[in-house]
Amino acid sequence: MLYTCDLVCWGAASPAAFQSFLSMLERRSGRRVTTYAHRGAGMRSHGSEIATYADGSRESGTTSTLAWRRIWYDRLCRESCYRCGHHSTEHPGDIIIGDWWGLRRFMPELDDPWGVSCAVASTSRGLALLRDSSGALELAATPIADVANPAQPMLEHPPERKGRDAFWPELYAHGFEAACRSVGALGPERAAKDLVKKVAAAFRGHPAKDPDGSSVNSAWEGAPKVDFDELEARGEYPVAFAARNRDDGVRRRSSSGGVYHALASHVIEDLGGVVYGCAFDGDLRAVHIRCETVAEAERCMGSKYSQSDMGDSIRRVREDLDSGRTVLFTGTPCQVAAVRAACANLEGGYPHDR
Ligand SMILES: Cc1cc2nc3c(=O)[nH]c(=O)nc-3n(C[C@H](O)[C@H](O)[C@H](O)COP(=O)(O)OP(=O)(O)OC[C@H]3O[C@@H](n4cnc5c(N)ncnc54)[C@H](O)[C@@H]3O)c2cc1C
Repeated sequence: MLYTCDLVCWGAASPAAFQSFLSMLERRSGRRVTTYAHRGAGMRSHGSEIATYADGSRESGTTSTLAWRRIWYDRLCRESCYRCGHHSTEHPGDIIIGDWWGLRRFMPELDDPWGVSCAVASTSRGLALLRDSSGALELAATPIADVANPAQPMLEHPPERKGRDAFWPELYAHGFEAACRSVGALGPERAAKDLVKKVAAAFRGHPAKDPDGSSVNSAWEGAPKVDFDELEARGEYPVAFAARNRDDGVRRRSSSGGVYHALASHVIEDLGGVVYGCAFDGDLRAVHIRCETVAEAERCMGSKYSQSDMGDSIRRVREDLDSGRTVLFTGTPCQVAAVRAACANLEGGYPHDR
């Protein structure tokens, strides 16, 4: 059986641009970067971006480390992302996961420093997978209209192109650092603004609330319990959920609520299946890997905001399905569309009627 899980996707940045960003960090710090992570918009309270270096030291909140998150949304997506036909709830995977952008309309008191996911079950297959993984999750159901709103635009349309035309010629001619300077994402003015923000934050104290505190949990306590039997009987898709992993440690390593971890663990541990997802290789290149263990699947936690190399994943997914394995494929909507199309004729693949 093939399960697919795609991300609400703004678009994936050019891998070459990401590598030039990492080179800039290495040049500026004089150390090799071993990891770089940043969390989705809306989850800013606990270290929105962190670069880790080979000597174990970490850098966060500096003008350099912030440069990537400042620009990737508006300037770095691959050209095809701006024309993407898969960015819509019309062409989904079984489950779509994203940040909580749209959820505050439905849960206005939602505020959580470790992150909450928006999960959308688009098919009965997706709802069943979510149900079976739900032991690890806190969930609150809501109509899709509550989340597919202007606060969560990526469920409905591809990213808007902003300012890219000024950035890219500079990137090609003079490299990442110069291109960032040309759009004000680096340089003395930017550094001064960052300093002012840091000082202001220090006076305010730490902005994040205690993840175990009552202000965080009250939103969940007030939410109606999810009745999966009723949702399945109704058979109306998509169904949207606010979702978070019960394990704060998982959420700290995830980009939003840690739904991916719950799905992947269930498929591997309870169904004996395999999971495909995106991990960094030793050179911090985003690549799709095949995971037989939860430890391997954990390498895929956290969003890598650069286009991943699928390698021979599609061939291997087909082989796994052919040999009767359960497969969970996770990736961007365009990658999920490719896998579904490639597996349509296989047992456990997708019927052609949807
Ligand atoms: C490029 C990109 C753009 C995104 N844009 C948005 C957005 O505009 N709005 C929104 O609400 N959410 C967006 N997300 C999704 C969001 O960042 C989280 O991935 C999602 O909420 C799932 O979080 P999680 O805590 O459940 O799991 P996490 O542990 O954070 O997510 C891990 C999952 O992401 C997959 N993944 C990570 N990087 C990539 C990659 N480069 N290519 C393919 N798959 C990848 C892994 O395979 C795994 O399935 C985007 C993610 C990516 C990678």
